[in-house]
Amino acid sequence: MLDTALSVRETIQDKALVRSFSYINGKWCASATGDSFGVSDPASGDKLGDVTAMSAEESLAAVDAAQAAFPDWSGMLPQKRAAILRRWFELQIEHKEDLARIMVLEQGKPISEARGEIEYGAAFVEFYAEESKRPNIEGVTSHLPDAEVELWREPVGVAALITPWNFPSAMLTRKAAAALAAGCTVVAHPSGETPFSALALAELAERAGVPAGVFNVVTGSAPTVVEPWTRDPRVRALSFTGSTEIGKLLYRQSADTVKRLVMELGGHAPVIVFKGADLDVAVAETIKAKFATSGQDCLGANRIFVERPIYKEFCDRFTEATRRLTVGAGMEDPDIGPLMNEKAIAKQEEHVADALTKGAKLACGGKRHPLGPLFFEPTVLVDVPADALILSEETFGPVAPILPFDTEDEVIARANDSEFGLVAYVHSHDPRRIYRLSRALQFGMVAVNRTKVTGAPIPFGGTKQSGLGREGARQGMEEFTEIKYVCRDWA
Ligand code: NAP
Repeated sequence: MLDTALSVRETIQDKALVRSFSYINGKWCASATGDSFGVSDPASGDKLGDVTAMSAEESLAAVDAAQAAFPDWSGMLPQKRAAILRRWFELQIEHKEDLARIMVLEQGKPISEARGEIEYGAAFVEFYAEESKRPNIEGVTSHLPDAEVELWREPVGVAALITPWNFPSAMLTRKAAAALAAGCTVVAHPSGETPFSALALAELAERAGVPAGVFNVVTGSAPTVVEPWTRDPRVRALSFTGSTEIGKLLYRQSADTVKRLVMELGGHAPVIVFKGADLDVAVAETIKAKFATSGQDCLGANRIFVERPIYKEFCDRFTEATRRLTVGAGMEDPDIGPLMNEKAIAKQEEHVADALTKGAKLACGGKRHPLGPLFFEPTVLVDVPADALILSEETFGPVAPILPFDTEDEVIARANDSEFGLVAYVHSHDPRRIYRLSRALQFGMVAVNRTKVTGAPIPFGGTKQSGLGREGARQGMEEFTEIKYVCRDWA
């Protein structure tokens, strides 16, 4: 297979960041089968290039490499590992513009959001470069009169990382930096929709001095590449971000080898707006919570509950703000770009049609956008009935359903009535109410009077079927470690 992807190279400065081969054991490898898959620009539909599709056997070669590299990497002085991670962070920042452009071409998001994602993703590498020096900071007081006891945090071994297309850079750095800082070696599979961002990160990892075999990126069909990793006892941890459906599949596949699992799965975020909240803030923040990443965000608002006395005013203002949103190709930096694929567009259509059939009213949008087959109009549905699909399934697109509520108890029950529990947004100025809601909402994260809450120092993650474990913060690194207890008798 030829190393292609020429049209991506045309738009960036550092041409070597665009890679079409997998990165295994410090080498750029094409599959011996000659298989490849095409990647296209969701805005134009143009093909960007072909990327090699590794076989199951070749995917296991990445585990061989990661296993072989593990003793040296885990045994390296943490300060040295930290310096390599720090350099990887610096290179990501130095190449921010190129990385953002690669992302826009393959993912479609607005360029300013892509730049923000590079900074956000790099921040995890910076954070874990620091954190890698201090995993063993907890002592223990002995319960035995004549023995000394110690706890050590040790890296679990090879970690498999499986990342989605909606944040093709940050979802990889958030996992990889934590695993590498802990002393694990990594095999990663990026989504076939957006492999170029992950391959560019591998190129920068090599330049930063990450040794061969420590960080491997394997492209190809997800079941072909990932399934062998789930069965392989050498892979000790598996960290997945994606849909709850695939998360459950990987959970089952990993059972026989009892892997440590981190699962960042779907969300179905409620937004709850109470009378007395600052409506300007509530509308502006809910627009962000709904339409960032063109609605393709696990933190995306999927149910907007508004207290009845302010319901009409909120709906009017929210609809007006939605009408003002611009739609276009990511490079033009609109508010909303194209969706990822036809499946995503079909889901918007299904949710809109279902809600309207059941009695919701269309306030704006509601159909495909004339700009192209993967564009959808920013849409507002009001008076959405409780049995509408959109109130129980993740929409993952720019459709906002709004509905009224009457009491605090009622809205808490309705917000919690979901198999998901990733994030909930609350708008209120009553401190006691904020406290009660923060306690009662069954979500991993609660955001009050704001939308942006994530970042490297906080443990990101959900409850119920939104996932297992946390990413970011110290807790995110601990997911890739085991505790070893040593009890020494001095007698
Ligand atoms: P997806 O279909 O579950 O895919 C996620 C990843 O899994 C991709 O790399 C995909 O590869 C891979 N995959 C697909 N089938 C697989 C299989 N049989 N075995 C192993 N891997 C497989 O999800 P998506 O549509 O890409 O992303 C959207 C979902 O991710 C939403 O539900 C969203 O809420 C969730 N998400 C959650 C978070 C979070 O932090 N909680 C963050 C972002 C997204 P291919 O793409 O190559 O098929």
